[in-house]
Amino acid sequence: MPELPEVETVRRRLEPVLVGRAFERVEIRDPRLTRPFDPAAVAAELEGERVVAFDRRGKYLIVRFESGRVLLIHLRMTGSLRHDDGRVPTPADHHVRAVVRLDDGSDVAYRDVRRFGTWLTVEPGELDPYLEPRLGREPLAGSFTSKRLAEVLSGRRAPVKAVILDQRRLAGVGNIYADEALWRSGIHPQRPAGELSDEETRALHRGIRAALKAGIARQGATLRDYRTPDGGSGSMQDEFKVYGREGEPCDRCGTPIEKIRAAGRGTWYCPACQPNSTTLRK
Ligand SMILES: [Zn+2]
Repeated sequence: MPELPEVETVRRRLEPVLVGRAFERVEIRDPRLTRPFDPAAVAAELEGERVVAFDRRGKYLIVRFESGRVLLIHLRMTGSLRHDDGRVPTPADHHVRAVVRLDDGSDVAYRDVRRFGTWLTVEPGELDPYLEPRLGREPLAGSFTSKRLAEVLSGRRAPVKAVILDQRRLAGVGNIYADEALWRSGIHPQRPAGELSDEETRALHRGIRAALKAGIARQGATLRDYRTPDGGSGSMQDEFKVYGREGEPCDRCGTPIEKIRAAGRGTWYCPACQPNSTTLRK
């Protein structure tokens, strides 16, 4: 569930906590987190490493160490990171899969109910070859223009929603922000991606960026498990225009929001603002 805005919120909150600190002790409690690699071996590799940067690419968090080594974290469905400075006792929690003790005595705990998240150590020089085939354009980068989006969509007969969900084409957009972006753009989720006009492509470009930025501004969306690193919740769920709002009136035109299946996912849209044909457009 965490998408770009949730992952970016975690990054922004933890960056000042992590940068400059060393991993003093690392405890990995769940072997699924590091498989196929031995959790004790991964923990031993990480101990003593000092953090020089905490970055994000798509939905990946990237802990960069002084040695050039990297810890690549993917939260998948229900992963979250929590910083505990020891001032308030943290309740025992059997969903905590790993704990890093930093050299200032504080802890960063990784919690994951469904256990799909991953921790992968990447040796110097191996990060780009790992990420490149997996991740497409970064939608909030300055270099991501509507022309770049047009290249992503061009010639594709797949529904536009499927194309913007494809991490290898566009990194970081998931089911929530895809629906929100398409509503903002007035584009039906099942329109063939390659058939969007230049004007629609520009609208989608604006819609994607606006939806993601709105999510970041509200610290992400907390539907179930996502938490900010201080244990708090995001508030984007209160601002959704279509996602999860079946039967509720569209903010723009009052038409009840409908739910369909598109790109294999539950999809919410406004049938009036997002007609399924270019000719029906106002
Ligand atoms: Zn509408």
